[in-house]
Amino acid sequence: MVSEQIEKRGINNKKILSAMLDIPRHLFVNEAQREYAYNDYPLSIGEGQTISQPYIVALMTSLLELKGDEIILEIGTGSGYQAAILAKLAETVYSIEKIEVLAKRAMSVLMMLNIKNVHIMVGNGSIGVQGGSFDRIIVTAASPDLPEPLIEQLKDDGIMVIPVGEKYSQMLIVVKKKHGEITKEEKGGCIFVPLIGKYGFDSQFN
Ligand code: SAH
Repeated sequence: MVSEQIEKRGINNKKILSAMLDIPRHLFVNEAQREYAYNDYPLSIGEGQTISQPYIVALMTSLLELKGDEIILEIGTGSGYQAAILAKLAETVYSIEKIEVLAKRAMSVLMMLNIKNVHIMVGNGSIGVQGGSFDRIIVTAASPDLPEPLIEQLKDDGIMVIPVGEKYSQMLIVVKKKHGEITKEEKGGCIFVPLIGKYGFDSQFN
């Protein structure tokens, strides 16, 4: 998976490659899917949700430009796989998941792997963490626009990676904050399940 799908597509950061070699992706999918866990596509994790394609996990991780001392906020824990990769490359990961059974399953896999610097919370991540402030924010669900609270919770010199667009097709956007100014860069098309909530789709779910 790492050499064929990640390295050959141009992601050469040694730390990212080694994190992806270390983390056993098959533990993050249910048993019926295990034989497909290292294939080049997203997989269902139940509850209508998915674990992202391995390359997308690597790409989003590399766009975060991690040095190792960052506090990261992830919106959309899902299986917990992306959070596990980030945990190897940063100081602390806070991850919010709206579906409790997924959050609990992710917590138990991370515990099994003895990963202690990921903190999973159940809730609506489209509003982030009130009063929070993060070096990096990664949104792994599709948003119709940049959620204002997440922009506010991004520290200066911070980077946010987020898929923005229609419900069934989006553009991966890198948002950087410097001296309070926001810049946006497009990094290619992608397809994520929708972010639900006030700053996502289906805003009636607050
Ligand atoms: N990063 C995950 C994949 C995420 S799939 C992984 O590595 O497996 C997107 C997840 O976002 C789904 O589990 C979905 O339930 C969750 N989600 C959608 N809207 C949300 C919201 N407003 N707050 C928190 N989680 C949300």
